[in-house]
Amino acid sequence: MATQLVLPDKKRAVVADLRRELGSDKVKDDYPTLTAYAVDASIYKIVPQVVVLAESEDDIHKVLEYAVRTGVPVTPRAAGTNLTGSAIGSGIILDISRLNRILELNREAKTVRVQPGVVYGELNRRLASHGLMFGPDPSSGEMCKLGGMLANNSAGPHTLRYGSVKDNVESLRVHGADGGWLEARPYELNEPALDLVLTRYPSLRNLLGLVRDHAGLIRAKRPAVSKNSCGYNLFGLLDGLDQGRFDLPKLFVGSEGTLGVISEATLRLVDRPRATATALLHFKHLEEVGDAVVRLLACSPSALEVMDANTLNLIGRDRHNIPADAAATLLAEFDEDGPRGNVQDRAAEATGLCRRYRLASNPVLAFEPEQREQLWQARKALYPTLYRYDTKKKPINFVDDVVVRAEQLSELIRYLEHFFGEQRVPVAIFGHIGNGNAHIVPLLDVNDRGDFARMVQGYREIHQTVLTRFGGSICGEHGDGRVRAEFVRKMFGEELYGLFVRIKRELDPHGVLNPGIKISEVPFTDHIDYTRLSKACATCGKCNSVCPVYDVFQSEDMSSRGWFEIVTAKDYSYLNSKRVVEACLNCKSCRTICPAGVDVSELILQRRAEHPNRLAGWVFALQARPRVFEPLLKAAARTQPLWDRPGPRTWLERLTRPLMRYVAKTARIPRDMVLPRLAVRHLRDRYPELVRGARDDCRNRVAYFHGCAANYFDDGVGDAVITVLRQHGIEPALPPQRCSGTPIQTYGHLALVKEGARANLASLAPYETVVTGCASCTLMLKDYVRLFEPGPERDAAEGLAGRVKHITEFVAEANQGGAGQGLRSSSPMKVTYHSSCHLRAAGVTKAPRQVLAGLPGVEFIEMQDADRCAGGAGTYILKDYDTSMKIFERKRRAIEESGAEVVATSCPACMIQLNNGLRGKARVRHVAELLADAGRAAAQPAEGTRPSES
Ligand SMILES: Cc1cc2nc3c(=O)[nH]c(=O)nc-3n(C[C@H](O)[C@H](O)[C@H](O)COP(=O)(O)OP(=O)(O)OC[C@H]3O[C@@H](n4cnc5c(N)ncnc54)[C@H](O)[C@@H]3O)c2cc1C
Ligand code: SF4
Ligand code: SF4
Repeated sequence: MATQLVLPDKKRAVVADLRRELGSDKVKDDYPTLTAYAVDASIYKIVPQVVVLAESEDDIHKVLEYAVRTGVPVTPRAAGTNLTGSAIGSGIILDISRLNRILELNREAKTVRVQPGVVYGELNRRLASHGLMFGPDPSSGEMCKLGGMLANNSAGPHTLRYGSVKDNVESLRVHGADGGWLEARPYELNEPALDLVLTRYPSLRNLLGLVRDHAGLIRAKRPAVSKNSCGYNLFGLLDGLDQGRFDLPKLFVGSEGTLGVISEATLRLVDRPRATATALLHFKHLEEVGDAVVRLLACSPSALEVMDANTLNLIGRDRHNIPADAAATLLAEFDEDGPRGNVQDRAAEATGLCRRYRLASNPVLAFEPEQREQLWQARKALYPTLYRYDTKKKPINFVDDVVVRAEQLSELIRYLEHFFGEQRVPVAIFGHIGNGNAHIVPLLDVNDRGDFARMVQGYREIHQTVLTRFGGSICGEHGDGRVRAEFVRKMFGEELYGLFVRIKRELDPHGVLNPGIKISEVPFTDHIDYTRLSKACATCGKCNSVCPVYDVFQSEDMSSRGWFEIVTAKDYSYLNSKRVVEACLNCKSCRTICPAGVDVSELILQRRAEHPNRLAGWVFALQARPRVFEPLLKAAARTQPLWDRPGPRTWLERLTRPLMRYVAKTARIPRDMVLPRLAVRHLRDRYPELVRGARDDCRNRVAYFHGCAANYFDDGVGDAVITVLRQHGIEPALPPQRCSGTPIQTYGHLALVKEGARANLASLAPYETVVTGCASCTLMLKDYVRLFEPGPERDAAEGLAGRVKHITEFVAEANQGGAGQGLRSSSPMKVTYHSSCHLRAAGVTKAPRQVLAGLPGVEFIEMQDADRCAGGAGTYILKDYDTSMKIFERKRRAIEESGAEVVATSCPACMIQLNNGLRGKARVRHVAELLADAGRAAAQPAEGTRPSES
């Protein structure tokens, strides 16, 4: 296919042209942007010339028109989680992520009209309240977007029941290379509108003719398997023609951006199942699995998943209670669907059927979400296991998606186990056995010649065997992309492949739509990113799904995955990447979720440490001298009623702005921000007996590490923590303490962080338990381990990490997971919980919820985005107030939708953000404050009393 090449010296012209057409904000070509967009979740890397962040159909139109006019290739991109290299390209990357609105829900017709940037998981969460869902469920559902799912014809475990994307699309709006916007819906062949379409788009008329003329060939070459995403779906088009329809969505779904760009889709929805049952079965003999699957399919399961013996070894049999003699594990799921009867009976019937086989243990059945989740645990542990397996041998996706008939899957697994056994390559074989779709993920070091040769051998032999011995398909759901394009010709033969080429030429005569994908002669080994494959990050994109900055900017250069690429690139420099290196909130959400154990924020902090912020350094150095710092703060506290008013605050912002610029260009003290009330008497002044107590014998005692906020602010947190500890019969000590270090680290002052850490380690050493009330202090105290090399300091830090407890953990542990006895409700209230990022990163997620749910009079409501960052992140709110507020917007919506009148949290810094963002629309309380109130209410006479506000 002839693709016009644009020489490198034209790059600047392309960027300038596009900026003229679209405006400079949406067109980016700086170093961080191009670096971040050079990868997706595949093994490849291609640096683009320019990235366009489309915000409207008009933007898409202009880009495509420009591409056709100049021959510069365009690669549409959504979340970039494809495993095939189909969202990277050498020309224009057209990112559609900002087109992310749910446009219309029709509950009666059970359809939803969406833009392509909507994240799958979010769509289904929105639909859940209407009892509906979009059926196809890729495992990447929390990060992938509908544009990518449509273009890849994605599927997942529940495809068995709900079909893949192509089975669930009513219509699309597509912009092709010629002819502008097309309403791609199924047209009746005798419908007058079809004539209009074919007149306007002669390429479609030609395509229709080609499909009709080659009906025999298409029928003969149709893969005899239940699932296929290889090549163009001419089979679906032909099915439509047989029923008197020109079914256009079938052409575009699965075409991987090579035939047009989708700007809208109307999707068919299904009812959410009323109940679900999950069964776990361990088989001793692989050959019996195929037979069992045929029988199980008769029970209409919604999902049927398999993991082979290698996979079970890799994830750890002991860890997941998998019997040593299990040759394969099957997970079967059943949804309540009315006519098929009670889901429990069906699940029991299915497990009963399997008792005729030699099972390695009794089948396990689960009906409640938490128990069902446990059965899926081993399957879900797979990616983290593969990603963390070895520093050199990495999971390589190059034969990852083959399909055979379901009953042949045991035979296929046997063949693959033998093949990789001979190669001595560790491999995980798992997948959607009900559809005969196997995911094969070998662990290889492609930088090693031997492993590289094994990859090439495996690619050819396995794909060939799937075609000739099994009559299967090389691609079930992941798409052809770059990785399988080389084999599409072999899969379908010269004639049908030739037809694909003609169709591509008809619809994309200039060859500008995602060249190199699906229909391409380029060997699959071209563009492999050898450097990246030796790094820890698997570029899966999971971290982007929780990164608050990505949530706001919807641009890969402002995302966790992108930042990993940027800060670990060979040609990185602070100067070429300052914009993005300073944009991270250090919320640690990426670290919490990363299956590969990568801490992107840590890498960013290391880069910042190479250029510490001077002004922040002075402030923290001053803070380390409390005799000077605290009187200043107290003076500010005493005068706060004078200066914390609209007029003076305007001046404060103006006057401090030049100074704040030394922190960041965007930094300021916004005049309209609700500042926390500074304490005239610091916490330590208010509890001199506890400060004194710390000087006495402190063995076997509890220390309260209050941190900066609870000491300096009049936010009620410190008093509440002390009250709660006293309610538990504990008189805590307030030993001397320095800032835990989180904010200092954020500004790159590692030496200062270590100095503070050493002081805190010494001061806290004698205490058996160190209670905290702040999420960031909790995490930082636990994280001191990371600051020191092996030796006495590291040992001390490890010791401290095991003794630190957030107050909610302390209370939950002391009361067997509850809030405690003898508490009383002050008044009934609906409470929701904002889960602070650093507390999540410290692994404290259940305790605060348990405590809240256990409080008398509290109706606990789990809000939808409880686990998302609220955007405060310590001083980030001052560093970039506007972005901070944009991040908060999502939290505000979630709180409002929860209907709660109180938002509880576990961190004083989050309280500042919540108070500022909510402006009284809901009351903001620390969990400890609610606990203290309930304790006080219980201590007061029953009638006519009101709890005091701390
Ligand atoms: C850990 C992991 C698990 C996965 N599990 C599954 C799974 O279970 N099932 C499955 O099917 N896949 C799975 N995938 C692959 C991938 O997540 C899916 O294919 C997903 O649907 C891709 O969506 P995306 O938004 O990331 O698209 P991208 O990767 O951005 O793009 C994918 C393709 O869509 C095209 N495209 C994007 N938007 C448009 C548009 N508006 N118009 C035209 N073309 C467009 C791109 O050009 C590209 O060809 C997995 C991936 C990972 C990393
Ligand atoms: S950092 Fe982790 S979560 Fe993020 S892309 Fe890399 S492997 Fe995936
Ligand atoms: S720490 Fe937070 S803001 Fe920074 S990269 Fe990770 S998720 Fe994004």
